Formats: sequence, C-alpha cells, structure tokens
Amino acid sequence: MNLGVLGINFAYVGSAALFIFGLKMLSSPATARKGNLLSALGMLLAIVVTLLSHGLDYRWIIIGMCIGGGIGLFAAYKVEMTSMPEMVALFNGFGGISSLLLAWGEFHQHPEMSVFLAAVAFLSAFIGGMTFTGSMVAFGKLSGKISQQAVIFKGQHLINGAILVAALAAALIFSLTPASWVGYLFFVVIVLVALGFGVTSTIPIGGADMPVVISLLNSYSGLAACAAGFVISNNILIVAGALVGASGIILTKIMCKAMNRSLANVLFSGFGTTTAAATGGDGPQGEIRPATAEDVYYILEAADSVAFVPGYGLAVAQAQHVVRELGDLLEANDTEVSYAIHPVAGRMPGHMNVLLAEANVPYDQLVEMDDINPRMDTIDVCVVIGANDVVNPAALDDENSPIYGMPIIETHRARTVIVLKRSMNPGFAGIQNALFFGENSRMYFGDAKASIQALVAEFKGSD
Ligand code: NDP
Repeated sequence: MNLGVLGINFAYVGSAALFIFGLKMLSSPATARKGNLLSALGMLLAIVVTLLSHGLDYRWIIIGMCIGGGIGLFAAYKVEMTSMPEMVALFNGFGGISSLLLAWGEFHQHPEMSVFLAAVAFLSAFIGGMTFTGSMVAFGKLSGKISQQAVIFKGQHLINGAILVAALAAALIFSLTPASWVGYLFFVVIVLVALGFGVTSTIPIGGADMPVVISLLNSYSGLAACAAGFVISNNILIVAGALVGASGIILTKIMCKAMNRSLANVLFSGFGTTTAAATGGDGPQGEIRPATAEDVYYILEAADSVAFVPGYGLAVAQAQHVVRELGDLLEANDTEVSYAIHPVAGRMPGHMNVLLAEANVPYDQLVEMDDINPRMDTIDVCVVIGANDVVNPAALDDENSPIYGMPIIETHRARTVIVLKRSMNPGFAGIQNALFFGENSRMYFGDAKASIQALVAEFKGSD
C-alpha cells in the first residue's frame, strides 16, 4: 500500500501530536501512565505508516524486530527494578548507535551527498557514536562494573579539546568530498573519534553526577536521532528526536538544579574525585541510638505528622507497597502523612515517583524538597527509608565533602528522625552521614521491607 507523501505526513502529524500530548501528561504522576500510553500509540502509528509507505525489504525488518523484541522481552522479565537505571543507560546507548549506523548506511548507499546532508550525517554519526560509548561507561559506573570515581588524567581538557577539533576538521573534509575514498576514510575517522570521545568525556565524571549524565546522554540520543531524520528525510524521526533532545536538556537542567551545580561544572570539574578518605577518613563518628520495631511503633503512634523520605534502599528492598500500607494505618490513626521526594534520590531521575506510583500512594501526599524544608521544624517524625546522600547534612556544612552544595531534604531539623537501613555502610557517594549520630535520630536497622512489615504488624496488633 502506498499512502503517498501527503498521507504519510498527515499520519506523522498525528504521531507528533500524540508525542507532545503524551509528554505534557508525563509532567504529573497522576497522568504519567496515560501519557506513556499515548506516546507509545504515536510511535506505533509512526512505525506502521513508515512500514507501509516504502518499498522496504521486510525480511531484514522482521529479523531485526525479532532480535530487538526478544532482547526487550527478556530484559522486561529478567531485569530487576533496581537495575533499571543501568537499563536506561543501555537504551540511550542503543539509540545513539542506531543513529550512527543509520547515517553510515545511508552514506554508504548514497555517497553523492549535498554539503548539508553530509553535515547532518556527520552530526548523526558523531553524536550517536559518543552517546553509545558514553552510555556504556555510564552503564559500567552505575552497575559497579567500573569504578564510580571520576577518572581524571593529565591534560584531560586539552585531549578532549583536541579530539573535538580533529572531529570538526574530519567533518569539514568529509562534507566537501563525501563521494570520494578520502570522504569515506574521514567518515570512518569521525566514527572512531566519536567512539573515543564518548569514553574520554564521560569517564572523568564522578558517580555522584550520574543523574546529570544520564539525562544528558538521553538528550544526545535524541539529537542524534533528529540529525538521522534529516539524513534519511524522515519527518517523524526529526520531530521525535527533537522532542527527546529538548526534554532531555530540560531534565538535565532540573538535575543540575537538584545538585546545585552548573552543567559546565559537571562536565569539566571531575566532581566526585573527593573520596571519603580525602574528606578525613571515615567521616563523622559518634554514638548511635538503635531502636526496635516496638520503640518505633510508639514514636509513630504518638506523632501528629510523619514524613517518609525514600531513597535507593526503598528500591532495593521493594518496600513501596508496605510503606503505603503503613501510611494508610498512620492516617487512620489521625496522623498527617507525607512523602518527601528528593529529585536525585534512587538511581535514575524520577525513581522514587515511579516506585510510589506503583504502590498507588496518593499524589497529594507527595511533597517536593523545596516545599517540605521550610516547615521541617514542625514535622514530628521523619522516617528515612533507605536514603542516605540526599539527607546528609555534610552537603550543607562540610566544604570538603564530595556532595557539598547539593540541596538535601533537611530531616535533621525534624523533631525525631528514624533511619531505616541495614548497616552503617555509606550510600552512593561513599561518605558517612552525621544525621545518624544526631541527638534526635534513632537507627532502626534491617531490610526496609521487613522493618516496615514489623511496624505494620505492631499497628495491626494494637487494634
Ligand atoms: P544512597 O545510595 O545515598 O543510600 C542508599 C541507602 O540505602 C544506603 O545507605 C543503604 O544502606 C540503604 N539500603 C540499601 N538497601 C537497603 C535495604 N534493603 N533496606 C534498607 N536500606 C537499604 O541513596 P539516596 O537515594 O539517598 O541517594 C542517591 C544517590 O545516588 C545520590 O548520591 C545520587 O547522586 C546518586 N545517583 C542518583 C541518580 C539519579 O538519577 N537519581 C543516578 C545515579 C546516582 P545499607 O547498605 O546500610 O542498608
């Protein structure tokens, strides 16, 4: 079936509208699921229309769909929720390599390109290539397969600058002579340089800056796809790529704000190089006050207001459903319940929102950091569930700390703080937390899910 150029573009406008409405709905947890579905519908429409509109070799497409679909299905069933951030990094990388291969394939088939097409083919290959290797480094750091510390080497900025200049020079030669063997050679040089640049530009970024890196790579994958859309003259790829690129940049800005850092600072300063050792051995020490389930029950039972502060440990323990159950029991006990969300809690942007939405926590109980901090002194009990870095006061008062300057949820100012974790081990940034030794803090050790289940049992047993 041939839909004709008008029919195709008409359907693409429909897809683009679905993407835009879908994105808009993603801005609130209440509508996010519908937004996701709407965008997926838009993508389905775009794929079906594209498949119907060209004289394509369906054998290759079917093989590709089977392999890709198989990997996706396997990942969906097998990958743990806690490994989702690594998955996101991988997906960004796959998006990047697709754009690179697409540009290469098109150039290989039609080397007689205009200067404009050659330039966008360069952008698609270069951004796609650096997104691929950069995402692989991010994947390695997030999964702990390579060190999360920033790897700084001598003359780093100089080398990265030289790589960029080399890439631009290669792009110039390639754009002027794409149809010659020199053009082909320089295209290969561009690909190699891009792959190298992805590594050298991501490896100096410390683990603590990963939220920014993930959203930035996400944005790059969109920009590469947008350029690839120009290469193959596909309007919906241009639109979808531009939307991903723009929303990724907005998310990057939000993440930078959440960490109180400029993008330039993240990309060029080697943040995260200051280790626990560099900040003075094991960091703050002191006496801790352990609490039992029964102790915590009595504290919660008497509280007028309780704020849960979830972190990465909530995801590890998969405690979101049982937290919601405890929240309901507290409400039934006339306690005002809220869930304070830090933008970089967990291991991917929006991690806590996703978990709490899965447990159907009422949206009006979710509170942002900037809203809860001003009234923190009035909160009776903060229950910190597997959060550590995002509640570490060192971010406010220790200039040598690797997280200094990052806004935190200031639980140390609440009347009482209950910290749920399994041990005194540090969090992602690898530093000890003075909150645990505070006069108003009680440590409730154990797996978060089991600990909260014990509290739920205490509440139910008291009925
Ligand atoms: P942290 O990683 O600082 O702390 C998590 C805490 O959870 C640990 O102290 C751990 O202590 C505890 N924990 C782990 N498993 C369990 C369990 N089963 N039950 C109870 N507690 C558990 O997490 P935060 O959310 O506070 O901070 C996020 C960090 O990750 C920040 O440094 C952020 O920059 C970084 N990051 C964030 C990304 C994002 O996009 N959001 C991406 C990449 C990094 P113990 O082992 O003793 O139980």
